[in-house]
Amino acid sequence: LPSFAGIEPHRRLLVFINPHGGQGKAQQIWENVAPIFKAARCPVHLQHTGPAESPNNATTLASEIDLGAWDALVPISGDGIINELLNGLASRPDALKALRMPIAPLPGGSGNALSVNLLGPEGVDDLALAVLGVIKGSPIPLDLCSVTHGDRRMFSFLSQAFGLAADLDIGTEWIRWMGDTRFTLGYLWGVFTRKSYSVEIILNVKESSKSAMASAYNAHQASSPVYEPPAVPSDLSMPTPSLSMPLEDDIPLHTELKADLGPGWHRMRVPIQILYGGKLPWVSRGSQQFPLATGRDGLIDLVVVPPRGVQESIKGLEGAERGAFLSSPSCYYYKVASYICRPIGSAAKGYISIDGESIPNEEFHVECHPGLARVMSL
Ligand code: ADP
Ligand code: MG
Repeated sequence: LPSFAGIEPHRRLLVFINPHGGQGKAQQIWENVAPIFKAARCPVHLQHTGPAESPNNATTLASEIDLGAWDALVPISGDGIINELLNGLASRPDALKALRMPIAPLPGGSGNALSVNLLGPEGVDDLALAVLGVIKGSPIPLDLCSVTHGDRRMFSFLSQAFGLAADLDIGTEWIRWMGDTRFTLGYLWGVFTRKSYSVEIILNVKESSKSAMASAYNAHQASSPVYEPPAVPSDLSMPTPSLSMPLEDDIPLHTELKADLGPGWHRMRVPIQILYGGKLPWVSRGSQQFPLATGRDGLIDLVVVPPRGVQESIKGLEGAERGAFLSSPSCYYYKVASYICRPIGSAAKGYISIDGESIPNEEFHVECHPGLARVMSL
């Protein structure tokens, strides 16, 4: 294609279609938008993805792409394929360079959180807006978290969930035909069966005052990667949970961590309903779980929700769109640089969800790496 001085050449796009994502409409979505890419004269290559063990798994595909051949990777699926692409890029010997390849998503999964964060909860249903982002958006940096469990390390751009927040996602895979309604149903199921999980959490806290976090967020809102940064409550007299949750001193610490347990490190062993770490405000269209997350503050927003009664849990569901974790006095909200989660007893049978994908239930360590990835933002 001709390129003229001063005019950006047309973007070369590697499109990933997951036929299994969401309600299985990725191919149809592509056919609907293909004419726009043609009109924009973007050279496009289509790649269908395959399940975890297949050679078409998005992680494998991303580990092998020719970085010089493409200007962006365009997954048509949910957050799972984005996670796989990032992990594929991160697995390469040239990982730091590879991770600068922008991810420009077209929503086609059940959980399309990256798209919600880029386009806003109303904008995410407007496919034309997403297409505009792919063709005309700018690459912006996004922090990644590394999650170490057993002898494996993987990367997470969105969330790490344990307790009800994981069960409502992984535990409802069998009803994926419902779209994102399955998350609400899964939540209610957990609430009515009154599940609670014992867990030891060791966290490197950078800020625990909700008001201080809110002022810092408001001051830096302009640098947020989200298309339309969500408003946070301007009421700075929000309750500030203390770090005085029950501690048991006789729990043996992870040996590697011992040396690090200086100021800022805290340890708690508590029953919880939810443990949820996140990098971006929205985890799905209806849930703004981390209203103070910016995607590039080098920190993880970590929410700890103690076991709650049915009424309070339902109220939490109602407020999810407005960031109920932050405003609820019963929810603990921290900015941490890293943390460890260690499920105890029967909790060791629950799900752990990283960006909506299941990992084996075992102790996991999470650390934030500023600005490792790039996403295309309008
Ligand atoms: P959703 O939001 O609907 O879960 P995701 O993008 O998260 O959409 O889906 C990712 C999952 O789909 C991954 O577990 C991946 O292994 C799986 N997957 C990808 N391609 C296929 C395929 N062709 N058949 C079955 N599963 C697939
Ligand atoms: Mg998924």
